[in-house]
Amino acid sequence: MIVYLPEIYPDELVYSWFCRYYVHSGCLTHKTALQEILYNRCNNPSKEFLGHLNPQMSAALQQYYPIENLVLYNTMFPQYARFISLDQKKEALYHIEHDFCDAHHLFSILPRDDEDKFMKYCPICVNEDRQQYGEMYWHRIHQIRNMQICTKHNCRLVNSAVIAKSEQTFTLCPAESFVIQQKPTIETDPLKIAFAKYMTDVFNAPMDLERDIPISAVLYHGMRNTKYMKSTGKTRYTKQLAEDMKAYYTRLNLSSIASMYQIQRVLLGDRFDFSVICQIAFYLTVNINDLTNPTLTAVQIEQEQEQNTHYMKDRTPIDWAVYDAETAPILEQVAKSIYNGSASETGRPERVSEKMIYRELELPKHRLEVMPKCRAIMERYNETYEENWARRIVWAYNKLKSKNEPFYWSDIRRLTGVKKKNIEAIIPYIRKHAKEETADAIIVLVK
Ligand SMILES: [Zn+2]
Repeated sequence: MIVYLPEIYPDELVYSWFCRYYVHSGCLTHKTALQEILYNRCNNPSKEFLGHLNPQMSAALQQYYPIENLVLYNTMFPQYARFISLDQKKEALYHIEHDFCDAHHLFSILPRDDEDKFMKYCPICVNEDRQQYGEMYWHRIHQIRNMQICTKHNCRLVNSAVIAKSEQTFTLCPAESFVIQQKPTIETDPLKIAFAKYMTDVFNAPMDLERDIPISAVLYHGMRNTKYMKSTGKTRYTKQLAEDMKAYYTRLNLSSIASMYQIQRVLLGDRFDFSVICQIAFYLTVNINDLTNPTLTAVQIEQEQEQNTHYMKDRTPIDWAVYDAETAPILEQVAKSIYNGSASETGRPERVSEKMIYRELELPKHRLEVMPKCRAIMERYNETYEENWARRIVWAYNKLKSKNEPFYWSDIRRLTGVKKKNIEAIIPYIRKHAKEETADAIIVLVK
């Protein structure tokens, strides 16, 4: 039973709220807190989204706030979903709200750069929060990728020791326990401040859940009357734009600067990355309202769509070797996180299928066929269903074992989805992926 749910603070991550629930509720252990929040003991809380909540928790939340509002105002949803198509956006919202679907199945969540590996905080906000609320919390706005400054205080953000992505051994890390008192460093570069402010405002702008205006059309019109597009609108100089943007954002010390292909794919309407779009739009000085609340007419949208078909045929020829080399390290990280389970909120290791890779990287059909470096990675991760089932079983066994409670084959089956009739074919792989004693113990349990 949920006894006491504290008030959620402005711009607080739901995850942070749960962390404070754990601190305030008087739950004796971390484990009990997680059990009160999550669907079952096999779920992990989600740092960026809601996680798989149990019915009591979900009912308790709804007493305070509509879940849709929590998703929109207290998760990182606007970072990943702001620029996807209206249908996809609505579907994603529905699934997160109603069946607590793992967001990785709904839109692309790319691996993080080193600079974005940890939860960030602003030392001045820490003091203000403590004065105003008696405690600090994880602010959503500080966790935006590529965000280096708190725009409320123009203060540089500091990395905590808390890893930002989903992990296999997941814990509630209240900001109060993980923040180290720091002397604030004030940012003085007006351009850096302006860019951080731009991302903040785009992130916070209301999300349009009515109209479907493709971001590619918005950027097409934002590019008119710039030197990157001929006045006829029929030719676009993407390569020049990418080079100029690179020089510009290098001066700003941005940790991940949009590449030529990322830019091209956003402009062609097959990628929707928040950071890439903010970089293009800020560089082209598209105003925030035109970006987040565009008022293009049907004719203007059609104009871009027509030109787009033309650009597709006429696009700067893709240097496949470069594209392959650029994509390979990203693919490696995505494949690894699917393989070892850190890509999913449950932590379950999955088979790296081409379907998943195409979805995660938003690659056009058959694209991998002409990318040998990427192909080689896919082959390295290639495995049979039986081998994957074996890895899932080993994972489930270790997970259940670490809880120090009795468990049975039925628990493993529930976690892994593996059927008993396949066990004989799986056993050799269990031996391959587990230590001898573990393998023996598992086999006794499953036979
Ligand atoms: Zn601040």
